[in-house]
Amino acid sequence: MRLGALEAGGTKMVCAIGDENGNIYEQVSIPTETPEITLPKLAEWFRERNVEALGIGCFGPIDLNKESETYGYITSTPKLPWVNCDVVGYFKKALGCPIGFDTDVNGSALGEVTFGQAKDKKNIMYITIGTGVGAGVYAEGKLLHGMMHPEAGHVLIRRRQGDTYEGKCPYHKDCMEGMTAGPAIEARWGKKGIDLKDRPEVWDLEAYYIAQALVNYIMTLSPEMIILGGGVMHQEQLFPLIRGYVKELLAGYIKTKQLDDLEHYIVAPSLNDNQGIMGALELGRRALEAD
Ligand code: ADP
Ligand code: ZN
Repeated sequence: MRLGALEAGGTKMVCAIGDENGNIYEQVSIPTETPEITLPKLAEWFRERNVEALGIGCFGPIDLNKESETYGYITSTPKLPWVNCDVVGYFKKALGCPIGFDTDVNGSALGEVTFGQAKDKKNIMYITIGTGVGAGVYAEGKLLHGMMHPEAGHVLIRRRQGDTYEGKCPYHKDCMEGMTAGPAIEARWGKKGIDLKDRPEVWDLEAYYIAQALVNYIMTLSPEMIILGGGVMHQEQLFPLIRGYVKELLAGYIKTKQLDDLEHYIVAPSLNDNQGIMGALELGRRALEAD
């Protein structure tokens, strides 16, 4: 199978050619400009490579309801040139092949369950903490869409006593994304996360807020594994701190073998940061199969 994979992000578009086993033969990155500039470049790249199907993991919010007139569109994104952009329609027309489409984070979750450490699991979450916070949910063996798709990066969390930072989310200010994403770290501490490595108070507060969101996810979705990726999670010291606060906040209420072994429950991605693009390959494979 010759599959195309596209990880569509707000700053860059990662394009790859691969197969149903997760092998990647070729990969390029194209900057995200406006749809008028970027979409034709992407289509040309895939057209020249004769893909049988294309899988797209896309930044959002997006419309995933196949009954909807705007299925396959990016809907209300803060990246204004992309508002109401018909991504699936564009590639269908340009390539004439089946197109698989889901959120970027659902794509990463799918990559991990198809090719990575979560292979034997039916319920996991993949959370990215980067420029924003996004969460993909794989529940009972399926990517969860529900009414639209989860936007669990915007869950509301409790402010730590004495913390006066207002929060960076344009919609909610101090939701999880507003308190923990890279831009929030930079606004709060006056430096980029990567330059704050040696400031333990930064990562303690960060972990405290991330842990609250994870506890909310554990309570509502009951995942068997939580995978934390994205630029901010490159600060590996966060993992033990997050596990510590999760344990504290759960307060012994839930008892499972997974929660007894948090080191294997709250984990880093397992596919060398290829989980998104490999998940997009699987979205493409599924679209071909369903065709
Ligand atoms: P995106 O979310 O745009 O796809 P990333 O996941 O790389 O991209 O996230 C970028 C954000 O993560 C930026 O705000 C950046 O400051 C932050 N970041 C990237 N690398 C690190 C790092 N090593 N430590 C802390 N923060 C980082
Ligand atoms: Zn928000």
